[in-house]
Amino acid sequence: MPDSSVAEPKDSNPALDVIVIGAGFAGMYALHKLRGLGFRVRVFEAGSGVGGTWFWNRYPGARCDVESMEYSYSFSNELQQEWEWPERYAAQPEILRYAQHVAQRFDLMRDIQLNTRIIASVYERNANRWTITTDGGTSISAPYLIMATGNLSTPRVPDFKGLKSYRGKWYHTGYWPHEGVDFSGLRVAVIGTGSSAIQAIPIIAKQAKHLHVFQRTANYSVPAHNAPLDPDYVRRHKAEYPQRRRAAYDTPFGIAGYPPPTKPASEAPVEERISLYEDKWKQGGTIGFLYSYTDLLTSKDANDTAAEFVRNKIRGIVKDPATAELLCPKDHPIGTKRLCLDMGYYETFNRDNVTLVDARSTPIQVITPTGLRTSAQDYEFDAIVFATGFDAMTGALAEIDIRVQGGTTLREHWTAGPRTYLGIMVAGFPNMFLITGPGSPGVKSNMVVSIEQHTDFIADCLAHLRARGLGRIEAEQCAEDGWTEHVNDVANATLYPQANSWYMGANIPGKPRIFMPYVGGVHNYKKKCDAIAAGGYEGFKLTGADASNNVNPSTRHTGIATSNA
Ligand code: NAP
Repeated sequence: MPDSSVAEPKDSNPALDVIVIGAGFAGMYALHKLRGLGFRVRVFEAGSGVGGTWFWNRYPGARCDVESMEYSYSFSNELQQEWEWPERYAAQPEILRYAQHVAQRFDLMRDIQLNTRIIASVYERNANRWTITTDGGTSISAPYLIMATGNLSTPRVPDFKGLKSYRGKWYHTGYWPHEGVDFSGLRVAVIGTGSSAIQAIPIIAKQAKHLHVFQRTANYSVPAHNAPLDPDYVRRHKAEYPQRRRAAYDTPFGIAGYPPPTKPASEAPVEERISLYEDKWKQGGTIGFLYSYTDLLTSKDANDTAAEFVRNKIRGIVKDPATAELLCPKDHPIGTKRLCLDMGYYETFNRDNVTLVDARSTPIQVITPTGLRTSAQDYEFDAIVFATGFDAMTGALAEIDIRVQGGTTLREHWTAGPRTYLGIMVAGFPNMFLITGPGSPGVKSNMVVSIEQHTDFIADCLAHLRARGLGRIEAEQCAEDGWTEHVNDVANATLYPQANSWYMGANIPGKPRIFMPYVGGVHNYKKKCDAIAAGGYEGFKLTGADASNNVNPSTRHTGIATSNA
């Protein structure tokens, strides 16, 4: 809450060119990149450390579902050559250590203000400046504002009645205690069966006296087959890093090294299909599996072949037939919700101390002082884990009162769902950039690749403005309308809208149902962004710096400086 003792907000740092909100992977790279171009940048971060998602999501088993050699920055060859990833899929503590290392190695901390939540940001057209207000009541302003607030950074605990009365301990996976939680000997409930739960459940089950898993929607998961990385593989991969990083931009998901599918499932005989799915299952990983055939995400018949393969795997792994059938997803095509990656998830339901509860047919009605009550019975728990997800993609932006003075608020502009141009700018909100915003491929890609690509686009754009003595950029309304329609058209040509996913805003009661990510692929998206930049920023209105917005004049007209990477 604002500190009421602060009567008049004071601008604590008037000499800034760019304010960045968020010090996750996006904010950190934005700082590094823009600083390298001579911009004066300050980053504000609510947490007490850098790392964003990897700072907050410390639940047991948290691990990235993109392979660690790919889920890492490419902007510095020295960094990618030096850093040693121990495992195929990096665990949260390792990724956090990496983020901290990057912050230190590139001297980022001197321009990052931690423990500072931004509650408002207002753009004044005459002054051509954004002024942000911190939860401590301080105001800071700069001509440019970059929202690096993340897509999965607003944890959501459903509005269960009675939660305040609960006498045990409860946790949300996205807001996990730093000191960790020991569930040994406890009766534990996990509510939810999304990616977070699927990673946490096998570990919690090993500690708890008894674990009840409350599943509303069964989810598809494929094995990670995580293992220590082979030094020879790492050596070869590092030698190929420059080509691999370039190649990533020519792929739909921003990940190189997976041969793209060449034919539709409908053209493959049954035995061939099963054999291919079996190979992919043995290799592990979500990308490889979804890359089996060209039409898995566009044809329901094709999708059914992969979905049934996974259901048969579940039936083969889980010994109790009723539990196995309950774990078999049947209400959405595979891949239309984020495909999960697990380490022994289905096997966990063979343990004597684990019970699966069908929270669809017997919904949770109330949290009681000693546990919870479903429509069927009462349960007693010492601890409850909410693995209930996030107000995704728009949640963190909606928490900040973003407005144009005398004009509209972002919340109002997005009443019917988010609208952006390229997922990077919003019409009517000049000089405010989003990194991996709604309408971009961000969450449907290797996030680090998308973060770097967006940030490079924004940085080039700011350098372009500065070199021409311009000070204001805004997305044209017709460009935003056209892009938003395109994002919807591309999604509607796929199976994605058939799932009640967070991509659709379907997990938040009352949130508009609109498919938010761009699923046309990183390759197509980057080509579009490159063409727009090369054409002088088509769809954006660039205007003069009559408000003389004080962008560091020492670097004006110098074009793009060399990054110090
Ligand atoms: P999620 O996918 O949104 O899953 C939330 C779960 O909670 C769902 O099973 C949902 O059921 C359930 N739920 C919500 N409200 C409920 C209620 N009132 N009663 C019963 N169940 C309820 O959230 P998440 O697992 O945190 O994952 C979110 C995203 O984070 C992932 O999709 C992924 O992009 C990212 N993530 C990635 C990794 C990784 O890299 N490996 C790991 C974790 C998370 P319904 O499906 O019925 O709504």
